[in-house]
Amino acid sequence: MAGLIPEDILEDILSRVDIVEVISGYIPLKRAGRNLKACCPFHHEKTPSFMVSPDRQIYHCFGCGESGNAFKFLMRFERMEFPEAVEALGKKTGVILPRVDTYENKATGITTQLYKINELAADFYSNNLDSGEAGLKAKDYLLKRGMTQETISALKLGFASDKWDSLINYLRSKSISLNILEKAGLIINKEGGGYYDRFRNRIIFPIFEIKGRVLGFGARVLDESLPKYINSPETNVYTKGKNLYGLNLARDAIRDNDFVAVVEGYLDFILPFQEGLKSIVASLGTALTVEQARLLKRYTHNVVMVYDADSAGELAALRSLDIFIEEEIDVKVVSLPKGFDPDSFVRKNGIDSFKERIEKAQSLFDYKLGILKTRYNMKEIESKAKVSTLMLETINKFKNAVLKSEYIKKLAQELGLNEEALLEEIKKVKTNKPYQDTNVSLERKPLNINPTEKLLMSLMLEENSLINRIKESIEPADFEDERISKIVSIMFGLLEEGKEVRPHLLMHHLGDDISQVVCESVFMPQSLSLEHKERVVDDCVMRLKSKKVKSRREKLHQEIKAAQNLGDEEKLSRLLEEFHCLIKKKW
Ligand SMILES: [Zn+2]
Repeated sequence: MAGLIPEDILEDILSRVDIVEVISGYIPLKRAGRNLKACCPFHHEKTPSFMVSPDRQIYHCFGCGESGNAFKFLMRFERMEFPEAVEALGKKTGVILPRVDTYENKATGITTQLYKINELAADFYSNNLDSGEAGLKAKDYLLKRGMTQETISALKLGFASDKWDSLINYLRSKSISLNILEKAGLIINKEGGGYYDRFRNRIIFPIFEIKGRVLGFGARVLDESLPKYINSPETNVYTKGKNLYGLNLARDAIRDNDFVAVVEGYLDFILPFQEGLKSIVASLGTALTVEQARLLKRYTHNVVMVYDADSAGELAALRSLDIFIEEEIDVKVVSLPKGFDPDSFVRKNGIDSFKERIEKAQSLFDYKLGILKTRYNMKEIESKAKVSTLMLETINKFKNAVLKSEYIKKLAQELGLNEEALLEEIKKVKTNKPYQDTNVSLERKPLNINPTEKLLMSLMLEENSLINRIKESIEPADFEDERISKIVSIMFGLLEEGKEVRPHLLMHHLGDDISQVVCESVFMPQSLSLEHKERVVDDCVMRLKSKKVKSRREKLHQEIKAAQNLGDEEKLSRLLEEFHCLIKKKW
């Protein structure tokens, strides 16, 4: 896991960082005895089963099994790669890291290379705005749309000329291979061989991730030609629907205001943001994904969706809002007057008028019902039934039973229907999800470990002196569970080297599934004196040994029988001797 970063540096960082401080920067932690707890950020739950240990410097979720140290938390929560997590915590703790390789280095991962190339491309496009006739014309176009130079720089907007090979030539001059340029999605393979630039004669919008690295690009024409927008294809660093445009600039404001406005496109974001609505992001698509909802949830639980009049009525967009309810995020909706999008609305009416609209946003319930009422003839019974079914789909997503029943009551009143009938109907609403939850495969289940072995593990992690005591009487191989046996052998090894065994340091030596065993063992409740712990250890060791002897005895018994049947006298006498030795032991 550690890779190229020296072990002592990792340990240095971990010994200075406080996991409680790291995690509580993202989710609220509540005291629970000597630990802290929270609702798990990695799976859905109502009662907290996510535990953080300040003493042991690790976290563990008893619901989904997610666990680890401070590095691991950042990797999972911020979706960082290991070196990034190390860098982040290194910075936080003031530990200086050895120089990391540049992108030319072959050992550097593809991810790092792609980020670097995207950055070079973004610089190239951005410089184009200040040179050449076409570039200056493009810049003029942006200024005329009301953007300031400051905004253009902050978003690193750029221009791709109409030449077929200007980016290729520029990046080739930096000795970047065509192969990697293709992987970055910046160039396209020609049918007859060779390559050409993907983006030509377009305004370029770099798409940034949360820390400001360039993931990919969106590109818009300057006139009315089609397609209006083209985007980077999916690459190793860019996945559609997993990011939010502008979040890198808006995150602090979103957290401070505890609110975010979500618009659709690049331009919808830019003007409102420039004019002073700082808690805003663009979804870069009409329907929101669950990943985007979860991304927002890190900063706020209050979302206002802003739709153009055109896309406001789209059922796909409406349905995607149910995601917020499932994620227990409060969602409201605004749709702008016909003919307006956020960009044109702000240009025409000013930011205050836009903010006012947002303040008057409707609840999802009212908004959806309003849309459905305009689509169906509410005088017909069949239409009412259809509308009630569509509304119940949304209501059914509420996890809170009180909310569910109150909304059913409200729906009954609004549609003039019988509440009992709606209660009957909601039972029939399918609970299948309208979207794919891609995180499911990452979640782990609690482990199945022999309780005696687990107890021993947990005691060894509590007191280093107990490891020595155990080492005197048993070997790693005596543990039945292979994972524990591996952990124990690492602990024995560390102790021999004169190192301290601490759970959060142990992690580097272990794979994910094995470190889960460590984390789970750490949170076993114990408040015993050292003397008492020693007695428990001795008892556990004895139990393990006697179990081992018993199974050896059974095995010998069978081997003896087999030898007797075969008439193998020599083997028989050897086995019998071993058998007598075994039963003499007083286990
Ligand atoms: Zn969990």
